[in-house]
Amino acid sequence: MANAACGSGLWYGEDNVENKALKISDSLPQSNNVGEITAALVAIQTHRGHTDLLISSDSTYTIDAMTTRIRTWFSQGFVATRNQALVRSITGELLKTNAHICVRKVKGHSGERGNEEADRLANEGARKETDDDIDLTAGETVRRMGAELRVLSQALAYRSVREVKKAPPRRRTMVMVEKTLAAVEDVTGDSNTSRALWKSIHQRKEAATSQKFSAWAWKSLHAGYKIGPYRRHILPERMNCNTCLEEPVEDMEHILCHCNSSGQEIIWELAKQLWSITGLPWPQISLGLILGINLVNVKNPEGKILNGRTRLLRVLISESSYLAWVVRCEWRIGRQADLSKLHTRQEITARWSSIISK
Ligand SMILES: [Zn+2]
Repeated sequence: MANAACGSGLWYGEDNVENKALKISDSLPQSNNVGEITAALVAIQTHRGHTDLLISSDSTYTIDAMTTRIRTWFSQGFVATRNQALVRSITGELLKTNAHICVRKVKGHSGERGNEEADRLANEGARKETDDDIDLTAGETVRRMGAELRVLSQALAYRSVREVKKAPPRRRTMVMVEKTLAAVEDVTGDSNTSRALWKSIHQRKEAATSQKFSAWAWKSLHAGYKIGPYRRHILPERMNCNTCLEEPVEDMEHILCHCNSSGQEIIWELAKQLWSITGLPWPQISLGLILGINLVNVKNPEGKILNGRTRLLRVLISESSYLAWVVRCEWRIGRQADLSKLHTRQEITARWSSIISK
């Protein structure tokens, strides 16, 4: 997607009926940034019900607005934010969408097909006679919410808004990768490269693990969820888990392997019980093993890979851990972390059974 002075372009593919050339009304500021962010806003609105949406944009402004800057702007009530109405609306749309939205930065004017086409559509839009109506109502909801930062940062984490901009691996990511490879080696005796790990997360065809799990694992490997220690600067009072005795730091390992509010204990008990029909030992569950599960192969004593069992183990571990994460988010966000509303054993058992039986 791209822009001209007062146009906005969305390109999905050749002759795609959803391609759009929009003219921005002069009730909005006329600038490149406005054209660019409008394109992203309209894309999200068009795909509210879809499960996945990949937005490619050459606009650093738009990508930053949707990822790194959104929390700050929101917490400040958008006071000093340029293009307030649009930024507020895109925040509102991100909060209510059911889609997993990924944002990708593309280089502008470098011959990338989608980028060139979006540019062309933006110019076409700018030349149109009549303005297009841009729906800004989601911004009103955000205005009414006020600066409830907690709601925003958690809801966004939950919806896995993520940035897929190419960047050198960060230290935190490298630590997570090392931890994961070590955990896999501990359990299987096989050593793997970090490249194999990333590939195992991206592999889709015939993968035992779901796309949701992959997106979650990808983000977790980047330590991208603002939980535990990463909350130190934004919400220090919420860094620790106050549901558990001694209030440990609420990091992903805690949530999935030790916490009382995620149902993990019941979930792992169910998984282990199901696995017992194979007669094989149940591995020690750790965050590393979970994130590296696609590298784990179950073998017979002769070292031959047992495909069916490998698949079963991958399904059990990925689905069980993802359920614990969902339960924790539901309780934290949906049930306002109310201790009287923790998920019951029955509830968790029913959820787990329905997921695994699929
Ligand atoms: Zn806990």
